[in-house]
Amino acid sequence: METIKATAIPVINPVTLKKIYEIEETEQATIDFVFTKAKTVQAAIAKMSVSERIEEVLKIRDYIITNRETILTHLVLETGKARLDGLTSEIFEILDFIHVYQKLSLKVLRNKKVPVPLVLMGKKSEIWPEPLGTVLVITPWNYPLFQVLAPSISAFLAGNAVVVKPSEVTPLRRILEDIIDKSGFLKNAIQIVYGSASTAVRLIDAKPDKIHFTGSCKTGKKIMAQASQHLISVDLELGGKDAAIVFEDVNIERAVNGIMWGGYTTAGQSCTSVERCYVHESIFEKFVELLVDKSRKLRISSANRNIENPEDCDIGVITTEFQVQIIEEQIKDAVEKGAKILCGGKREANTRVFPPTVLIHVNHSMKIMMDETFGPVIPVMKFKTEEEAIEFANDSQYGLGGSVWSKDITRARRVAAKIKTGNLSINNHMLNEGNPNLPFGGTKKSGFGRYKGEAGLLTFCNSKSVLIDKNSAVIDPNWYPFTKNKYLLLNQIIDHFFSRKKNWLKFIKAGMTMDSIGTKEKIK
Ligand code: NAD
Repeated sequence: METIKATAIPVINPVTLKKIYEIEETEQATIDFVFTKAKTVQAAIAKMSVSERIEEVLKIRDYIITNRETILTHLVLETGKARLDGLTSEIFEILDFIHVYQKLSLKVLRNKKVPVPLVLMGKKSEIWPEPLGTVLVITPWNYPLFQVLAPSISAFLAGNAVVVKPSEVTPLRRILEDIIDKSGFLKNAIQIVYGSASTAVRLIDAKPDKIHFTGSCKTGKKIMAQASQHLISVDLELGGKDAAIVFEDVNIERAVNGIMWGGYTTAGQSCTSVERCYVHESIFEKFVELLVDKSRKLRISSANRNIENPEDCDIGVITTEFQVQIIEEQIKDAVEKGAKILCGGKREANTRVFPPTVLIHVNHSMKIMMDETFGPVIPVMKFKTEEEAIEFANDSQYGLGGSVWSKDITRARRVAAKIKTGNLSINNHMLNEGNPNLPFGGTKKSGFGRYKGEAGLLTFCNSKSVLIDKNSAVIDPNWYPFTKNKYLLLNQIIDHFFSRKKNWLKFIKAGMTMDSIGTKEKIK
């Protein structure tokens, strides 16, 4: 058996830049054992009713409520987020998610009757949402609590065992284990495996029944390639380059406030943060002036920040050094091509503190307008007409989210319908994600598959199609023997029922004759 070299992976506090602890790649024997345990527990989960599964999930909810400050402290320590960002987008969001799924899962995860077509008259059809088996969840570093728990809970509610590999950058070691174990949640139903790509690759080779991945496009492609070798289905929740389109009739102050939040929350490290802003030329100057003024007033984290009392900070730090370098590189490229920095634009020396940044004179030849930035940067560009704004927004390899801002809701809806993304908000940004009843996912290079909403449960199910027939003594008229008479009658049904020129009388006659053939042909 292959032994994995125990290479230590340091987990760094992005504020102090000091090591907090280390994790190691998971040994192959442990991975094998994890999958064996998953298989055993899955048999038990499959036998549980959805209500019983919900009861298990509520243990997680209760534990999070009671221990939220401890969880938040660790979350802030590893990500460098503003504490309020953590409270809203991780703690509050997972509690809200569980609250909604408590009802939604009962509605979605039950057998459903569906109508039958003409040819199956007298029979019944049903859809049975059945578990897939073991689901592997692989998650990124920007929302280390929500991104781990939301898909894992969804998969569990659907009757699966879950193996989850958190990001090695923000693994929340012990915190995640405590949530699962100390809450009294069903043992082994969600197992956490730590490590980096090397561990993730071996987890995929353990052949889970489904992979739910959230992360970068680059990794998404690799996962899909590897999964294809085992024909494992994958959901890919990948990167984005969200556009915000601002029309001339908005309340400028409100739009600026909303777009600032959309661009800077979690220091811009959200897959659906505002990454490009297109403003109508008639309000461009005023919008930009206000945006810059307000951006300058935001309180940013500093290396001296007391991590235990971070409520006095609006914007946290960039979690990883490589992400700071991507932001710097994109700004450099933009400035070289003619962009102007109106505020921010440079990290505080020797830190991962990146101030809110506004750029103008930007265009689509620049990386800052085309590639995912994942930082607190809002490049603003003018547009003249509705068509031009739509064209700009759609000129992207990504299609995750976006927003349209206008008092004229008819226009906003019209524009929203033409934006090629999986998600969109009108007069707000990213907030569609705040509703767990809505499906979430991307188009284009932002990935495929949906989680949250009804789709977010069904994605973890084998939706089994079932036909139920009477166990009668007669055979179906279309069964053997094939006769010329049957052939003619079927053609008459096609002519008199499906074609535009319907003839009900002839159709009923043909149907009844067909049926009587079946009735005559008793099972021998
Ligand atoms: P990443 O792709 O580098 O890593 C994500 C996870 O994949 C980590 O757990 C990592 O260990 C694992 N991984 C790395 N290489 C792998 C491989 N070859 N095989 C299997 N697993 C592998 O992403 P990141 O930097 O952690 O996260 C940032 C990205 O995530 C951004 O692009 C962001 O837009 C995206 N994201 C998307 C969503 C969404 O819902 N669409 C949400 C959050 C983040």
